[in-house]
Amino acid sequence: MERREIAQLVRTHMERRLEPEGKKEYIVAANWKMNMSAKEIKAFLKEICDTDVPEYLHIIIFPPFPYLPYAQEMLRYEAVAYGAQDVAEQDKGAYTGEISAAMLADCGCSYTLAGHSERRAYYGETSDVVARKASKALEYEIVPVICIGETLEERRSGAYKEVLKGQIEEAAKVCKERLAQCIIAYEPVWAIGTGVIPTIKEIGETHRYIHDVLASECNNAGGRFQILYGGSVNESNVKEIASVPFVDGFLAGGASLKAESFKNIIKRLSLDGCL
Ligand code: PEP
Repeated sequence: MERREIAQLVRTHMERRLEPEGKKEYIVAANWKMNMSAKEIKAFLKEICDTDVPEYLHIIIFPPFPYLPYAQEMLRYEAVAYGAQDVAEQDKGAYTGEISAAMLADCGCSYTLAGHSERRAYYGETSDVVARKASKALEYEIVPVICIGETLEERRSGAYKEVLKGQIEEAAKVCKERLAQCIIAYEPVWAIGTGVIPTIKEIGETHRYIHDVLASECNNAGGRFQILYGGSVNESNVKEIASVPFVDGFLAGGASLKAESFKNIIKRLSLDGCL
């Protein structure tokens, strides 16, 4: 299946939200960051191809740039999508080290991350830059997964809602009505790689809040937004988080680095069906 068709499939599925038999649809995404070798990635991709994935789960792999051709080759006939961890905000030209949306499209990417908190923190990416990156991806029919999230101080001080709203508003300014076509990954910075996660109540409240901000930015145009949770997701906590309203899937970092733990996440979401 072509990558674009998969993106469309995911969107159609997510819009339906509930399967006739009552199964909720989820995206399960793996952010490999700057990890793994060619050999490890090929082995992982092979394992994923051999894994039974129910129709209501949509897997997206985000390998490092140089390994995208492996995904392109090995996932060609698989219902597993893949994407890049970042994209340039410019079209082309003298931007040494950058990778354009057109190049990602050439590599068959259906998705790209934009504004992961590590990009924001280590490379100074502002919400405006992130929005431009997301918008550029959309121009090339690549679905951006815009990462948003607050720091621990912002959570503790209660400023987190304003922070999240600001991040979404910046995206809306540039993406305009196409914001509804983006996936949002809510990743509290303090939960990334720490083993600490917000309470289920906090996740529920925050996802509902993000949903409401998106709805208002999109003039309550109806339809569904896709909001993923990310931050120390693993096989032990994924099922409970999946039961939270407005959680449409997961972006996993550490737990996605080993095929076994990633497959266990898939298994946990497959067992007994989901909500
Ligand atoms: C991430 O960095 O996107 C992430 C969710 O990492 P981890 O699962 O390791 O917290």
